[in-house]
Amino acid sequence: MPLIDSFQRTIDYLRISVTDRCNFRCVYCMPEEGAPIAPKDEILTYEEIERLARIAVGLGITKVRLTGGEPLVRRDIERLVASIGSLDGLRDLSLTTNGFLLPRYAVAFARCGLHRVNISLDTLQPDRFRRIARRGSLTEVMAGIGAALSSGLTPVKINCVVMRGWNEDEVVDFARLTLTQQLDVRFIELMPINWSQGDDSVSSLPHGISEQFMTLPSLGGGGLRADVTLYAHTERVSFTESFHLPSQDTQTGQLNGAQMRRAFVPTAEMRANIENELGSLLPAEIITNGPARTFRLPGAKGTIGFISQITNDMCVTCNRLRLTSDGQLRPCLMADGEVDLRHALRSGGTDTEIADLFRLAVLHKPREHRLEDGIAPIGRNMSQLGG
Ligand code: SAM
Repeated sequence: MPLIDSFQRTIDYLRISVTDRCNFRCVYCMPEEGAPIAPKDEILTYEEIERLARIAVGLGITKVRLTGGEPLVRRDIERLVASIGSLDGLRDLSLTTNGFLLPRYAVAFARCGLHRVNISLDTLQPDRFRRIARRGSLTEVMAGIGAALSSGLTPVKINCVVMRGWNEDEVVDFARLTLTQQLDVRFIELMPINWSQGDDSVSSLPHGISEQFMTLPSLGGGGLRADVTLYAHTERVSFTESFHLPSQDTQTGQLNGAQMRRAFVPTAEMRANIENELGSLLPAEIITNGPARTFRLPGAKGTIGFISQITNDMCVTCNRLRLTSDGQLRPCLMADGEVDLRHALRSGGTDTEIADLFRLAVLHKPREHRLEDGIAPIGRNMSQLGG
């Protein structure tokens, strides 16, 4: 019996965050000094993750993506890849990485059952790379892309978060890459994950940033709050459903809400810039198509996709659950409700009881995000949720 939510969506995709640690400090994702990380004993072991993945696959999950934090900073990650890769019934195992350590792992990954990778890359310019990612180097990431292609971890998708004043003028350069390389470049609208409200002092804010505010209809003016009411405590199962309440901390060193809104670039603008320079985009189909709307430039080897979570939200086709590295099952990226699987795992929960918790999360999967009502997730960063 597949997992079907209250809105008749079949849920067949699980994203598993294997760590909340990251070796980068992308300005929109983490403060310079890093986000708080969970104590080691709260992070699921590989055996626990594998058990949950097995239960999920038994419930009809056919696609698993490993993510983080940065999944490659977790020791022996290929061991987890191999054990999940061997699950009967799993059709697609992929991994999202910043690419920095990929040259070390690509061959081993391909051997132990990983099908493909998504690599995050926001700029093709070394100096900007240092300003945006604040760690690592463009050279290593490019080597990671090369290693993924040569190891057959394909199709290789490049995820580029587009931000005004930071990299929006590179959209055409990224699109041009697809003319000669078999890469699926996906432009992502900046999402309101854990936007802080105060502190305007990010020192690396570039000069000349456009003063034009892109005010999201939903977020203009009001404070952000977490939607905790969606997940009222339920006695339906014997395990406690838990919430991560929003932190009151004002983050520093990470773009705050006003800066993020200024940096927001809608898909339509990205697309118009590409088409003005390089010609019309033709609709394209790629295997393993996720939420992106996908196109191709005439004669191009690769494709161009847009992930328009804000201007053209994709909730109606959302098929995913997220497992955080500390064992919380999250039915919606954009709402802070979670179901505590770690407690179930560590208090003798049977596979059947844990399967019920998966069903519970699916039952509570909201129909759509509620950004229009000013509700955005603020409990945790993307690195903590599993982007
Ligand atoms: N470390 C891995 C990586 O860099 O791909 C996996 C985790 S990272 C959190 C996953 C993706 O989330 C990256 O592509 C990153 O750019 C994206 N991301 C993080 N915060 C975001 C935000 N506020 N809006 C849009 N994308 C975001």
